[in-house]
Amino acid sequence: MIKSSKKMDELVCLKCQGPLNKIGKVNLACPSCNIEYSVTSFCGQCSDELQHLVACGAVDFWCNTCNELKGKSSASYELLQNTSA
Ligand SMILES: [Zn+2]
Ligand SMILES: [Zn+2]
Repeated sequence: MIKSSKKMDELVCLKCQGPLNKIGKVNLACPSCNIEYSVTSFCGQCSDELQHLVACGAVDFWCNTCNELKGKSSASYELLQNTSA
């Protein structure tokens, strides 16, 4: 299945296409629209959703299907707008 996912540095605000600020470990925010996004990451090989492993201040991505750690650069990402606010 082909997803419309992007690399981390290609992610822009879904509303204004502006640059996003990183907040927390894996969340992003648009300062112009005041919208926060959760980032979901997918394996570059099998396209399954990756687990986020937060350890020692860094985030690693684990693929349950490949059964191995994935680097940030090999994963692809999708934005999900946080609707809690
Ligand atoms: Zn925006
Ligand atoms: Zn995988």
